[in-house]
Amino acid sequence: MALQRPKGTSDHLPDGSPKLSLDTQARAFQRVTDVARGVLERSGAQFIATPIFEEPELVRRGVGETSDIVTKEMFTVYYFGEHGGFILRPEGTASVMRAYLQNGLKQLPSPLKLWTQGPMFRAENVQKGRLRQFHQLDYEVIGGDDPLIDAEAVAVMMSVVEALGLRQVTLKLGSVGDPADRERYNAYLREQFGRRRADLSPESLLRLDRNPMRILDSKSAEDQAVVRELAVRPMLDFLGEQAQAHFASVRRYLDAWGVSYQLDPGLVRGLDYYRRSAWELHHAGVGAKSALGGGGRYDGLAEQLGGPATPGIGWALGIERLLIAMTAEGLELPLSPGPHVYLAALDGALVGQVAELGLQLRSVVRAEFAYRALKPAVALRDAGRRGAVYAALIGPEEAGRGVVALKHLSSGVQRNIGLDELRDVLGGPDFVNPDFVNPDADDRTTHPQPSTNQEQA
Ligand code: AMP
Repeated sequence: MALQRPKGTSDHLPDGSPKLSLDTQARAFQRVTDVARGVLERSGAQFIATPIFEEPELVRRGVGETSDIVTKEMFTVYYFGEHGGFILRPEGTASVMRAYLQNGLKQLPSPLKLWTQGPMFRAENVQKGRLRQFHQLDYEVIGGDDPLIDAEAVAVMMSVVEALGLRQVTLKLGSVGDPADRERYNAYLREQFGRRRADLSPESLLRLDRNPMRILDSKSAEDQAVVRELAVRPMLDFLGEQAQAHFASVRRYLDAWGVSYQLDPGLVRGLDYYRRSAWELHHAGVGAKSALGGGGRYDGLAEQLGGPATPGIGWALGIERLLIAMTAEGLELPLSPGPHVYLAALDGALVGQVAELGLQLRSVVRAEFAYRALKPAVALRDAGRRGAVYAALIGPEEAGRGVVALKHLSSGVQRNIGLDELRDVLGGPDFVNPDFVNPDADDRTTHPQPSTNQEQA
């Protein structure tokens, strides 16, 4: 058997590939990114790109020593020599904050909105929607802590999801409070879980000292049973006055804007630098345990990375999961990249000339051409297989008269179009559209031959 790709990765394939699904269709990936880019840029976010590998220390501090990612899911890359290796980035936020600090982006107008997109790597147990190389869209706002920024960040995420046509989403919103609030909560959790040490998983016993909030989102059944039995009070009960006021303000904005959400008093983002707002977006098609996206405020992150105190907030959406959700809702992307013409010479002597015409037409439309002379029937069949909207056929007669025989493939309508008009015709409404004005009306040769394509098939 020929070599296979590593487990938990996917190939992004061209249209028509035999094993294509929406989440492996290269064009669907691009379209999701394009749609998101539109929404994000209209929101004032600028694109930033960072390396896909980073120093291990960045990931340890940026994602958190006690996180699953750092304890068991990091991919390390080495090169020959002394260096201790790099980590393939498991998420985007730490890198964006590092780039902000390292490149003096503080000098730009604040708060600064950034977005990025690209592959992320986690050595997870592979299942549908849980890959080892997956792709995220990230939005980050650095340099402000007004609750309006939190509400806007949530709204922008919902706008991306809406622009993709997704409807069956559930937004869960909570707050993890300020550091002092979390200290009180952690003390409470230590006291509660301390009474049930014997029933906790070995991992959670370690968490008990270092980060008891992480026991709450433990995947182990024994831990979940303990959490249920203790009827642990949620983080939201422990918010101090300031965090409460901030959260109330975020909710007031979202309520006023009609952004619907479920209050999730127990939503945890257990890392030290998370502050205040936190949210997750779920979709039935992706499964209850896997989020479509998540976000939160991380005012403590910059200091964690050795920088000055700098508030920030951001979210990430998983592109594969967006595509799985879109499949579940039966959504299709508007995939057409615009009219597509396939040109073919009917005579060997014209091949180079037709190719030149194709090269010129690329300034207005997608144009492909045949690399050798074709019979008309073969040219039309090839054009259809390539998904073209039009076929343009040029034989000695057309060349002599300075026209092409242009056929609209789906309707079968064909007309001769002068070479000097071809760009306008291809860039304008199509033949079967009532707005179409034939520039070469005297030369109209309409052949209603709807059977032509079928004959070729
Ligand atoms: P997180 O950084 O864990 O909050 O992840 C943000 C988003 O990235 C998630 O909501 C998913 O959509 C996506 N994501 C995270 N991990 C994976 C994975 N292993 N495979 C596919 N998508 C993922």
